Amino acid sequence: MSTKAEIIRELYPEDVFHYAEKLTDGELEVLQHVRQIIENDIRPVVTDHWERGKFPFEAFYKLKEAGIMNSPKLFEGRDEKWKASEMYNAFLYYELARFDASIATFYTVHGGLGYNTILIGGSEEQKQEFATKVRNFEWQTCFALTEPDHGSDIAGGLATTAERKGDKWILNGEKRWIGGADTADIVPVFARDVEDGKIKCFIVRKGTPGYNAVPIPNKISLRMVQNGHITLENVEVPEADRLPNINGFRSVNEIFIHTRADVAHIANGVTAGAFVAALRNTSEREQFDRKLAGFQLVQEKLARMQSNATAALGYSVRIAELMENGEYEMFNSSLAKMHNSLRMRETVALAREVTGGNGITLESDVARFFADAEAIYTYEGTHEINALLVGREITGIGAFV
Ligand SMILES: Cc1cc2nc3c(=O)[nH]c(=O)nc-3n(C[C@H](O)[C@H](O)[C@H](O)COP(=O)(O)OP(=O)(O)OC[C@H]3O[C@@H](n4cnc5c(N)ncnc54)[C@H](O)[C@@H]3O)c2cc1C
Repeated sequence: MSTKAEIIRELYPEDVFHYAEKLTDGELEVLQHVRQIIENDIRPVVTDHWERGKFPFEAFYKLKEAGIMNSPKLFEGRDEKWKASEMYNAFLYYELARFDASIATFYTVHGGLGYNTILIGGSEEQKQEFATKVRNFEWQTCFALTEPDHGSDIAGGLATTAERKGDKWILNGEKRWIGGADTADIVPVFARDVEDGKIKCFIVRKGTPGYNAVPIPNKISLRMVQNGHITLENVEVPEADRLPNINGFRSVNEIFIHTRADVAHIANGVTAGAFVAALRNTSEREQFDRKLAGFQLVQEKLARMQSNATAALGYSVRIAELMENGEYEMFNSSLAKMHNSLRMRETVALAREVTGGNGITLESDVARFFADAEAIYTYEGTHEINALLVGREITGIGAFV
């Protein structure tokens, strides 16, 4: 039987500082199960789905079998009943994104953005109803904040309106880029209360009249994930489906502290995945009667990719530890998202470069990472917005406008 250290070496050979040893045995078992499902069920269909721009729902939902959100193995010795440890969370994103960024992104929309919105914003009854079904993958959820005219400036610019009429709210407006919006069973929609001007969050259930989501066509990044353009025309939501603990953009930021860290983990996984694929490709292919990996110029690039992967994993693991200790700070999440995305962007370009012509075909894995990295660089706060958040913290001067 393999030891824990041997299992980790096999799963993550690029983890040269052995960060994964911080996982518990139960968490590692779940991640091993995830790896089996990825290799047996998802990898065989991923290229075809990426090319066709379709999400592989059937293969993705095999992940339920591993209990990625609710396995008892994740909750052994924990008082917290809704969320597994931050370390497991970091490595789950790492594991998914190291294989494919769309799979990790679809999961972050559901199990990160949507789930955290319900946990942070919902009442106890709403958590029982919504969060239970979301973590069991009985209901798909998402996160509808961004609008056609308001991306980076959404905090001040959010224009979708909510008007209270008795025990109902009437929503009007548009949302853009909302991952999974066309198939979600429940959609948390952020809208501005016309009376007090505050941002509130409403759960719009599938089939509600006036709600329409159309996938944005012709994307070159994250092709498997459908990003919806939503229109809301006099959509009625009962007061019972408003999340009472979302009051103003401050509450949205509380969600972002978690989900921005999640995206730092995704960028970390993509960095590792692109590096591992590049290492494999250059170790197999020969030119001038030598393995490509045996040339000095190629080795310098592989070494740079390894150092990027190690640094990104270090960021992810440390913010996971800080969050587990209750240190939730936007500065940490923004810094990690910014750093890991920069390292990711450099790494996917190097990986593509050393893979030559094969690096622009879907056969090499590298091409998917290369194209998908662009969306990750942009969502959950662009590079500039996270840099401005970090800049404000270190200088004490806000420079957004
Ligand atoms: C694939 C994908 C999935 C997404 N999924 C979701 C989702 O599920 N839910 C959701 O609500 N949103 C989602 N988004 C939206 C995402 O959060 C926004 O795209 C992001 O906030 C940037 O907004 P924007 O695209 O409108 O760019 P813009 O805000 O128009 O920015 C364009 C450029 O200008 C820069 N810029 C803007 N303001 C400043 C400034 N003050 N100083 C310097 N530079 C600046 C930006 O950094 C960027 O480089 C997704 C986006 C993508 C691409």
